[in-house]
Amino acid sequence: MPAERPSGPGRLAGLAVVALLLALTAWTVVGLQPPDPRPADAPAGEFSAARALAHVERIAAGPHVAGSRANDAVVEHLVATLTDLGLDTRVQNAVGARAGGGGGARMARVRNVVAVLPGAEPTGRLYLVAHHDSVEGGPGAADDAAGVATLLESVRALTEGPPLRNDVVVVLTDAEEACLCGAEAFAASHPLAGGGVVLNVEARGTGGPPIMFETSRGNAGLAAAFADAAPHPVASSFAVEVYRALPNDTDFSVLLEDGAFTGMNTAFIDGAAAYHSPQDTPERLDRGTLQALGDNTLALTRELGGRDLAVLAEPAAEDATYFPLPGLLVRYPGWLVWPVAGAALAAVAGLGWTLRARGVGPLRRTAGAAALAVVPLVAGPLAVQGLWAALVATRPGYATMLDPWRPGWFRLAAVAVVLGVVLLWYALLRRRVGPAALQAGALVWLAVLAAVLAAVAPGGSYLAAWPALVGGLTGVVAVLARNRVVTAVAALLTGATAVLVLAPTAALFFPALGLSQALAPAVVVVLGVLALLPALELLFPDPGTATGARGRLAAAAVPGVALVTAWACVAVGLAVDRFDAGHPVPSRLAYVLDADQDQARWVTTETPPGEWTGRFVDGRGALGAELPYLAGRDLLTGPAEVADLPAPEVAVVSDELLGGRREIAVRITPQRAGVRLVDLQLTVDGGSVVRGRIGGRDVPEEAIGGSALRVTFHAPPADGLQAAFTVEGDGPVRLRATDGSDGLAGLPGFEPRPEGVDVAGSHGADLVLVTATTALG
Ligand SMILES: [Zn+2]
Repeated sequence: MPAERPSGPGRLAGLAVVALLLALTAWTVVGLQPPDPRPADAPAGEFSAARALAHVERIAAGPHVAGSRANDAVVEHLVATLTDLGLDTRVQNAVGARAGGGGGARMARVRNVVAVLPGAEPTGRLYLVAHHDSVEGGPGAADDAAGVATLLESVRALTEGPPLRNDVVVVLTDAEEACLCGAEAFAASHPLAGGGVVLNVEARGTGGPPIMFETSRGNAGLAAAFADAAPHPVASSFAVEVYRALPNDTDFSVLLEDGAFTGMNTAFIDGAAAYHSPQDTPERLDRGTLQALGDNTLALTRELGGRDLAVLAEPAAEDATYFPLPGLLVRYPGWLVWPVAGAALAAVAGLGWTLRARGVGPLRRTAGAAALAVVPLVAGPLAVQGLWAALVATRPGYATMLDPWRPGWFRLAAVAVVLGVVLLWYALLRRRVGPAALQAGALVWLAVLAAVLAAVAPGGSYLAAWPALVGGLTGVVAVLARNRVVTAVAALLTGATAVLVLAPTAALFFPALGLSQALAPAVVVVLGVLALLPALELLFPDPGTATGARGRLAAAAVPGVALVTAWACVAVGLAVDRFDAGHPVPSRLAYVLDADQDQARWVTTETPPGEWTGRFVDGRGALGAELPYLAGRDLLTGPAEVADLPAPEVAVVSDELLGGRREIAVRITPQRAGVRLVDLQLTVDGGSVVRGRIGGRDVPEEAIGGSALRVTFHAPPADGLQAAFTVEGDGPVRLRATDGSDGLAGLPGFEPRPEGVDVAGSHGADLVLVTATTALG
C-alpha cells in the first residue's frame, strides 16, 4: 500500500466533520420548509393564510367537479368576491376542446371566471391563473382551492395599495381536472387572452414548500424576477428539465402551447397520498404552505406588475440555472453551464494527474476506480427500489400509492440505504484500490455527468458540476499538502458543496416522484454520497495503523451504522404510518353497464387488486368498447348484477346528404341523475369522419379523419348534448354513447368499503358508466 495518508486527521476529527455535514444537511432541508401562517388580523397589505383559508373552506366544502351544481356555487362565490374587491368580473361560458385522450378528443362545457385589475400605465398583461374545479372524488382543498384562494387574497392585498403599472388579469379556470378545457377555451376565444406573462398556481399534494417547477422556454428574465422578488424562493432549473421530459400537464401547458404566453408554474407537492382523494380537505391543507404560496404570489405580482412586460412576455435568449439554498436562490446565466462543467472536468483530471505525480496512484488505478464506481451508481438506486418493493410486500395497501401517507421516515431510510450501499462498496475496495483513487474515480462520474447534462439538460448540470469542481480542486490541495488539517478542511469543503447543491434538490425530488419511483432521487443521493467520500473516509481506520481483525471490524462498522440506521428508520416508519379512517387504503372500482348486451361488470385498474376491490373482480377481461378512464389500461373485471340504469338517449335531429357527404345531427340526453360526462364513439364502416361539432364547438382537427371518432365531453348540458358529424362513404354508421357518473352506493351487489379503505385519488375511481350503441343506418 502506498502511504496515502501519512498523517490522518484521526477519527475524532472525522466524526466532527461528518457531524458538521449532517447539521448542514438538516439546515438546508429544514430551510426549504414554509413559514408560519399569518393570522386573519395581519396588516391589510400583506397576505394572510388565515384569510385565504376562509376561501378554501368555502370553495372546498365538498367535491365541485366541472358542470356540477356545487361548482356553480363556487363560481358565484368567486364572482361575488372579485366584484366586491372592485374588479370587473365576468364569467366566460364556453366549450373547451383538446385533442388526445384515446386518440380522439376531450371537450368540456366550462365556466371560467375572469377579472381585471387595470394597471396605471400598462406595458402588457400579467395573468394570475388557478383552476376552480375539483376532481369528482374529493373536495380539492389543496388542488386547487388553495391556488384560487391565494389569488383572491393576493388581489385583495393589491387593492389596498396604489394601482400597479400593468394590467392584472385573474383567470380562474374550469374543467382543468377533466381536460384542461377551461384554459383552452380562455386561450382560444377570450378577448383578454392576447398574451403576456402567466403565474399559474397548482398543487399535487397538501403541503411542503411551494416550488416554482416549470417555466416557459428562455426563462432567464423570469427566473431573475423570481429570485429578486419571491420571499420563499424554492425553485430548481433541474425540475424544469425533468418536467419538460414528463407527460404531466396543467393549465400552464395549454397556455404555453398557445404560444402567446411566457410564465412560471408553482405547485406544492408533498402529502401526495391525499392528492385528488376525499382526504384533500381544508383541515389537511398545510397553513404554512398556503402562507408561502401567498407571500410568493403577492410579491411576484407586485414585481412583475411593475416591470416592462413587453420584454418578459417574449422568451429570453436562454434558460438560467438556479437552485435553492435556505432563504435564497442561487442563479447564474445559461452560458456559464458549459464553462462550469468544463472546469469540473479539468479539476477532476487535475486530481488524477496529481495523484500520479505524487506517487499515490497511477492514472490506471484512478480509471479502474472510476469503472468500479458504476457499482454504487446502479446498486444504490436499485436498493431503494427494493426497499419500496419490501414495503409493499409488508403493506399491500401501498401497492397503488405514489407515496405513503407519512413518508418521512421511509425517505430517511432510503437515504440511509444509499449511504450504506455506497459505504459498503467503499469499505470492500478501500484497502485494495486505495481511498484516494476511489474518491477520485467517483468524482470522474460527477464530472462526466456534468458535461452530459450540460449537453442534454443544461438546467440539471449544476447538480454534478459543482461537487466535482470543488472535489477536484480540494482533492489536489489535500494531496499536495499532506497535512492533517488540510485533509480535513478539504473533505469538509467538498462535502459542504455536495450537501448545499444536492440535499435541497434531493429533498424536493423525493416527494416529487414519491417513494414508489424513488429510483431517480436515489441517483441524486448516490452522487451526493460519492462526493462525500473524502469526509466519510475520515471515519475509517487509518490503513497504515489499524490492521488485522480489529481494523476490518472498524471499517465494517461505517457502512454497518448506515444500514442499521436504514433498518431502524423503516421500523419506525412502519409503526408511524398505519392505515386508518383518516389515512385509508386507496381503492379503485368502476361499474360498467353495457345496455347492448344487457350485461354489467365490475372493473378495477388495481393490478393486483386490494383486499376490498378483490371481492368484486375475478380475472382479466376486455370491456368490448373504449371507455373513458378505462380504455388502454390494464384491467381486472368481475361479473355484476345489471342495475336499473337507463342508457343515454340518442335522438336523430337531422340526417341529410350535402355535396356527397352525409351530415348527421343528433342529441344525446342522459336519462339518469348526476351524469358528469358523455363519451361518444362514431364509427363509419368503410368510410371516414371528416368533421365533428359537439356542444357548439368543432372537434379538434387532430382527432378527425379516421373511420371512427371518439370524444369525451365533460359537463354536458342538462337538456342534452347536441352533436353533428359529417361523414364520407356510404357504409353504415354507428354511435356508441356512454355516460358517466360517480358513486357506487346503491348499486346491486355493492358492499360499502370498510373503515380504513376509501376511494383512491384517481380519475374515475368510483365511476359508473352506462353504454349503448345506436345504429344510424
Ligand atoms: Zn390541479
